[in-house]
Order: sequence, then structure tokens, then C-alpha cells
Amino acid sequence: MFITASCPTCMQQANEGGQAPVPIEVPITTEPASQVTCPRGHVSFVAVQDAPYALLYERALQRLSRGLARDAILDAYTAFEMFLVHVVVRARYDREPGASPTQLMSELSDALKTSDRCLAGALVAASIACGGPPPKVPGRLQEMRNRAIHRGEHPSIKEAEEACFTIERLVREFEGCLSKTPRVNAGAYALRWHFEAFKKYRDAMDSADVPFSFASCSCVLDPARAAKPPESAQKRLEAYRSGQRPRAW
Ligand SMILES: [Zn+2]
Repeated sequence: MFITASCPTCMQQANEGGQAPVPIEVPITTEPASQVTCPRGHVSFVAVQDAPYALLYERALQRLSRGLARDAILDAYTAFEMFLVHVVVRARYDREPGASPTQLMSELSDALKTSDRCLAGALVAASIACGGPPPKVPGRLQEMRNRAIHRGEHPSIKEAEEACFTIERLVREFEGCLSKTPRVNAGAYALRWHFEAFKKYRDAMDSADVPFSFASCSCVLDPARAAKPPESAQKRLEAYRSGQRPRAW
């Protein structure tokens, strides 16, 4: 499963009057960046800024569009579990001036060790942030995912759609709760987190001479989307079913 972006070296050559850049396929991954080679042979690292859980959710929609219901549920639910970690960490980040998401995650590691702890932590954090009840996570969602994993069941397309759309709704509800607390840091949590993860990734690589570029593909759950309202999962799924693929920029 891929998204389409542009090769940074081709882009630079085009800016200097060379040929138009050629599209490259960037794999949808939970890594902060991917190594890709363009059709003209340029190697580069492309960091997609939409956050790994947003990319994983996008992969769920792509899989669903191809009739892979079980894989869609596994990707979508895993994306949801990854997102819940950020609910807990962001609840503190938004209150603590100069906080580092990586540092907070490390401090909270015991509370985030298992999926049940993460869910409980996220519900409490969301409830405190909005001063009201947290989102209601339907038990059926986890049952569907567990049946797919532990009993090897193959859910129907309709069930997978229901799971994906429920997860989209829950993520928006959690984000709505968190946004009720005015954040004290100028930088939004999602961008700060991505920057720190990307820096760690780059520092760990011996690749000083390989160009890096950033791309964004406006994933349905992209936490960094700013001005424009996000496209719904339903609409994105229809686009995927009609053969479209969102282009990164
Ligand atoms: Zn190139």
C-alpha cells in the first residue's frame, strides 16, 4: 500500500530548469520515514508528516477498498491503539510549557504498557481535558478485532466498514475533548511529536549524504491538518474504490 510523492532530487533539478519531477511511490509504514528510489535512480528518504497511526488508518481504507476486510480491521484497530497513546501524552503536553512528547511518553511508559491501560488512560485524560464524559468506545469494536486475530475469523466488508467508521468517529471525539483545553505550547503536539521521532530516526541512520524530504498526503486522520476540514473516511473510501490515490505534496 502506497501513497504518491515527488522525488526531492528531481524536484531540485526541475527548479534549476531540468526535467519535470517524476512521481515516486512511498510505502505506507509506521516508520517515521522511508527510503525510496525514483525511476531516475535517485535515492532519498521521505518522511510523511501525517503520523504513523494516520497512515495505518489510511492503509486500512485502501485494504477495505480492495475487499480485504480482515486486514482492514487489523490496521484500523492498531491505528486506534496507537492513537490512544497520543491522547494520554498530549493531555500533558498541552498543559506543560516546553514539554517534549518523547520525554512525556517515556515518563508515562508504565501507564502506556498495555492496550487496556492505554484505553483507560485515554478515557480519563479526555474526560479531564473536556470536563465532561469521555467518548464511548463500543465493546463490539474490540470483539470484532479479537475475533479476527484470535479465532481467525473473516469479517464481512460491512463489519469492516463499521469498524473503520467507528474508529474515525472516536478519534474525532477524542480530539474534540482534547481541544477543549487551551494548549500552552506554541507548537502543536502532532508536529512536535513527528519532529522528535524523525530526528531520532535520522540520528540513528548513517545517511548524511542521502537527501531527506517531507511530504503530506492529507490522510483522513492526519492530526496536523490545519485550515481545511478533513475528508471523511466514507468519501476517501469511495475515492479509493474508484481507483484514486491521494497525492502527497
Ligand atoms: Zn529523482
